[in-house]
Amino acid sequence: MASVSLASVSKVFAGDVKAVDNISLRVDDGEFLVLLGPSGCGKSTTLRMIAGLEEATDGEMRIGDRVVNDVAPKDRDIAMVFQNYALYPHMSVYKNMAFGLELRYGGNSLHRTWKRLTSPTEAANLAAKRHGIRDTVRQTAQALGIQHLLDRMPRQLSGGERQRVALGRAIVRQPAVFLFDEPLSNLDAKLRLETRRELNELHQRLSTTMIYVTHDQTEAMTLGERIVVMKDGEIQQIGSPMEIYDRPDSRFVAGFIGSPPMNFVTGGLVAVEDKLSFVATGLQLEFGEKRKKRLRAVTVEAESVELGVRPEDIVVEKCESDGDVNCGDVSMVEPLGDCKLLHISAGSDDGRSPREASKLVCKVEPRASIEKGDCVRLDFNSANLHLFNAMSGQNLLLDRG
Ligand code: ATP
Repeated sequence: MASVSLASVSKVFAGDVKAVDNISLRVDDGEFLVLLGPSGCGKSTTLRMIAGLEEATDGEMRIGDRVVNDVAPKDRDIAMVFQNYALYPHMSVYKNMAFGLELRYGGNSLHRTWKRLTSPTEAANLAAKRHGIRDTVRQTAQALGIQHLLDRMPRQLSGGERQRVALGRAIVRQPAVFLFDEPLSNLDAKLRLETRRELNELHQRLSTTMIYVTHDQTEAMTLGERIVVMKDGEIQQIGSPMEIYDRPDSRFVAGFIGSPPMNFVTGGLVAVEDKLSFVATGLQLEFGEKRKKRLRAVTVEAESVELGVRPEDIVVEKCESDGDVNCGDVSMVEPLGDCKLLHISAGSDDGRSPREASKLVCKVEPRASIEKGDCVRLDFNSANLHLFNAMSGQNLLLDRG
């Protein structure tokens, strides 16, 4: 097992494509770290540099205490699992899993004969390890529920089975670090859920350092002990799943995590007497005492702001007439089984007013008796409101000092 650290690492491809831009991070020994971000943000390139499949243009990478920039991939003590399985098509499942160990513990018969002649003690040690390969493969296959597939060829397996074989092949090598590049994206929804649970169990059982690349925020939230959110080759934020969810540094991070996503409403800050409020079409929200202090300090920074509120932090109640502040019309209802999503327009949206209505999606319990066309009063969980600078996207309410 080992930690992994990157110090000011960059990767520029031919044609001046900056895929990774000066990133620094440390993955603790035994940690499960997820690299999350939209397509093209540089997460696979980061992983491939750690694996040694891409050379870093700049910066230093360490696995444990060793600088590995110039160490060949096979000598980095890592195992990588890809999205497309990359199994050897002409080898059985057993052979796919055993092959790496057989190479490590002796290679072909010529190698073994040479070893016996030149270094008999080492040759005896390797022979003992070679004898253990069968058991290792069988035990791992059993743990992954693929023991009945050991004699099959990859073409005779389903996608989910192939991915398990790829996982098994990585596990038997007992690497210091596992690297996963979107390993679940070819699986159907049910299998993804199952394999995600297995990966979680695997991490608990092995306590090996794992770095996992995905653009799927559910995978990131459920698997990662910490998440690194990336955009345009740069790190946007590093934190535990709930830190990222509850305290996003920026509008980008806030909007990337959460399903349905956070609502954003453009508006302004208004100070009336002792009170400070966010005001937008049809909405007026007052901030609590603690946050007011922080807000006062930042009002000069941002003329235009965006309110950020998660769908579950809006409380709705049916009311008689709309047109009042913090009231809205339900324009669509989406029943999802375990909850209902209400699409609400607050303020004028009747075509007569130049102002656009404030649009919000809110999450209510599945049997709430609210229908399309109803008028609802909106209440907000003020402890979980966010305010972003409309220009820079910075979260104005986070006091990180
Ligand atoms: P995805 O989720 O789609 O795999 P990603 O976040 O993993 O995306 P990368 O594959 O790391 O992104 O790519 C980052 C950027 O580097 C992209 O703009 C991509 O086009 C570019 N890139 C990746 N590999 C190469 C290459 N071999 N040559 C040139 N540009 C590359």
